[in-house]
Amino acid sequence: MSKKFYITTPLYYLSGTAHIGHAYTTLAADVIARYQKGKGRQVHFLTGSDEHGANIEKVSAQVGKTPAQWTDELADSWQKLWASLEVQHSDFIRTTEPRHEKPVQRVFEILLEKGDIYKGSYEGWYCTPCENYLDPAELVNGKCPLHDCKAEQAREETYFFRLSKYQQALLDHYEKNPEFLSPKSRSREIINFVKSGLQDTSISRSKVSWGIPIPGDPKKTIYVWFDALLNYATAVGLAEKLGLPEGGALSRGRKFDEFWPADIHLVGKEIYRFHAVLWPAMLMALGLPLPKKVFAHGWWTVNGEKMSKTRGNVVNPEDYAREYGVDALRYFVFREVPFGNDGDFSDAAFAQRYNSELANSLGNLLSRTLNMVDKYIGGKLPGDDYKGGELYAALAAHGPAIDAHMEALELDKALDRIWCAVAEMNQAIDRNKPWVMAKENPAGLEPFLLELSAGLRLVSGWLEPFMPETAGKMRAQLTAPRKTGEKMAPLFPRKEAAKPAK
Ligand SMILES: [Zn+2]
Repeated sequence: MSKKFYITTPLYYLSGTAHIGHAYTTLAADVIARYQKGKGRQVHFLTGSDEHGANIEKVSAQVGKTPAQWTDELADSWQKLWASLEVQHSDFIRTTEPRHEKPVQRVFEILLEKGDIYKGSYEGWYCTPCENYLDPAELVNGKCPLHDCKAEQAREETYFFRLSKYQQALLDHYEKNPEFLSPKSRSREIINFVKSGLQDTSISRSKVSWGIPIPGDPKKTIYVWFDALLNYATAVGLAEKLGLPEGGALSRGRKFDEFWPADIHLVGKEIYRFHAVLWPAMLMALGLPLPKKVFAHGWWTVNGEKMSKTRGNVVNPEDYAREYGVDALRYFVFREVPFGNDGDFSDAAFAQRYNSELANSLGNLLSRTLNMVDKYIGGKLPGDDYKGGELYAALAAHGPAIDAHMEALELDKALDRIWCAVAEMNQAIDRNKPWVMAKENPAGLEPFLLELSAGLRLVSGWLEPFMPETAGKMRAQLTAPRKTGEKMAPLFPRKEAAKPAK
């Protein structure tokens, strides 16, 4: 049995609907998953929803629903969103499912027996939206810096995870596996945090009833992060791996060792620490291998401002998908910003890239090439045995660089390279002037047009992970026998720069 390429998004917390930041992570995972599939690898792409904790209890009560009703509705709407954005995940796990809750409880028992979980009492500053105690040094004027919400002094009997025990082992792991903390620009912060000294961390809550009950102490529930992080393992057969009685059924027949360790956990930078510190320490405590890479991308601002409900500038990905098409959205977010950095989302930038790069550079290239193919060479397209000439060889030479960028998760650089090839074809047309060749060098015209068609087929293959629908349309046009004279709809109809209608 061969190890699958296993990629995950974070489990999204179902306290509300999705915005562009969530879509960005999920689309990135989809692009990477499609790319790996295209390379012939067996891919497993996991996403899902994080459904426990005080915030879910609170938001569902506000609308007069039970947490179960609320999370059922939200989980459903999130899954519909992913389908509408052409996301092809292999599995969607909800932390309220027995296949997750049961192995999480078993993990708790195992670590308690082992002494990596122990009972104590905790006193400190608690932020309710974080569902966590904050270090007094993190507070800004007594408020949580992330939520701008006043932290409260709280004290409770609690279970601790012995995180301090893994400080050195984590540092050793970061050192021996430089790819683990990705991108490189974000690794220093984590290493410094771990070096500054890890404290054992509270992993139970007595104030939160909507959660996984602690085995043998059911008045307390498991801290939502300790619960949620384990999804990456429970979704791929941890129940069976741990020898639970109904482990085979809970694991849906998945054999843990075929999937684990994950190849990539994609996360936003605000939750990097949980994934780069707590999660690997939990795996070490369980004696399981660590994921190969934890990659944190940046945040989106909107027209230079932080995105927030109070500002009313939250970007809904569906508005852009409706206005410009799903593929244009998938293209824009990865073209606009180096993957890993922070970026700014603006209507002007979106419209500009749409019109100049999609409608003009790519869309026009395809339509004018096929028009000339019809007009000058009777719709002839390259055959399966096509070898190509100088132009085609130059275009094909971009392939290895695009592959290298995709493997390194440099999604923006891969797109830059693809648009280089597009530009080279446009330049070749302007230089060779096929309409002049038709009169002066008719023998050279057919080979040239065949090179363009074959080059566009390469582009459609490279674009498939980013823009599956566009790639499919291009491929269809460039392979089916042509009915000359048939009018073709433009790939990307030009748009006036306008804010998408809500
Ligand atoms: Zn907070």
